[in-house]
Amino acid sequence: MERSGITGESQVVAVVGNPVRHSLSPLILNAAFAAAGLDWVCTAFEPPEEAGADIPAAVHTLGLRGLSVTMPFKEVVAASLEQLTPVARALGAVNCVRWQDGRLTGDNTDGDGFVDALRAEGFDPRGRRCVLFGAGGAGRAVAWALGQAGAAEVVVVNRNRERAEAAVDLAGAVGRLGEPTDVRESELVVNATPLGMGGDATSGGARPLPIDPSLLHNGHVVTDLIYHPLTTPLLEAAAAQGARVLNGVGMLVHQAAWSFGHWTGEKPPVEAMSAVVKAELASRS
Ligand code: NAP
Repeated sequence: MERSGITGESQVVAVVGNPVRHSLSPLILNAAFAAAGLDWVCTAFEPPEEAGADIPAAVHTLGLRGLSVTMPFKEVVAASLEQLTPVARALGAVNCVRWQDGRLTGDNTDGDGFVDALRAEGFDPRGRRCVLFGAGGAGRAVAWALGQAGAAEVVVVNRNRERAEAAVDLAGAVGRLGEPTDVRESELVVNATPLGMGGDATSGGARPLPIDPSLLHNGHVVTDLIYHPLTTPLLEAAAAQGARVLNGVGMLVHQAAWSFGHWTGEKPPVEAMSAVVKAELASRS
């Protein structure tokens, strides 16, 4: 149907985070609703941090059709919902709240979004040797997804050993702890650390790399979960070595596409979602 603006009939979803005003989710999802001809709208809410446990009750009370959940609420929302999907339970984090069989359910679409983004670029992780830098929220979702997607090996490299071990466990039987030099024999390299997002005090303003670029070669697919900036020192170094490179825009779009599909039951218009976010990020850089 042709959209003629928001009315009392419009179905509402929201992104919830703190801070949230920079979030690209409303832009991506409103582009998706428009492209699909749905009378749905996505807005943003920024509750105080201490109110995280009340978020599911607000969805009930206001009859929202779904939530996209971001920092710092992913864990507290997971702990406050009575029903979680297996992946949300394994990760202890929710990025998508949706109705399933009449019950409010916490899901996590980050990992599936990551793998879909790889597949959309013609790279299937099945049977591939993968090295993952970082084991925070995003790294754990990637470890789980690569294990589920049938990767031959998921090697986790992370400063904090406890978090590294948790990510290894999420990858299942193919997971193990590793070193940066494991990159040499791998096929997929994933940066799930914020290194490369911007200069920091320790690097004197330079944008650091998570690995020594001399380890990279033209047999690699190198993906950085960072999407702003669109390119990072890691991707630049990898491209210079002849590797295939992929930034985090694909994951951002595909995790939202999964949420769109769960909420509406419709096929997500991925191209429209991707186009709007690429245009916005290009204008911001
Ligand atoms: P997080 O939970 O804070 O985890 C950060 C990870 O990076 C941790 O493993 C941490 O290691 C590591 N790290 C941080 N600073 C480091 C440093 N100076 N040297 C080495 N390792 C360092 O963050 P997150 O939510 O997982 O996000 C990670 C990145 O992914 C961010 O850049 C974020 O923007 C991006 N992301 C992208 C998408 C997407 O859709 N494309 C989605 C989510 C996140 P320790 O465990 O040792 O502290």
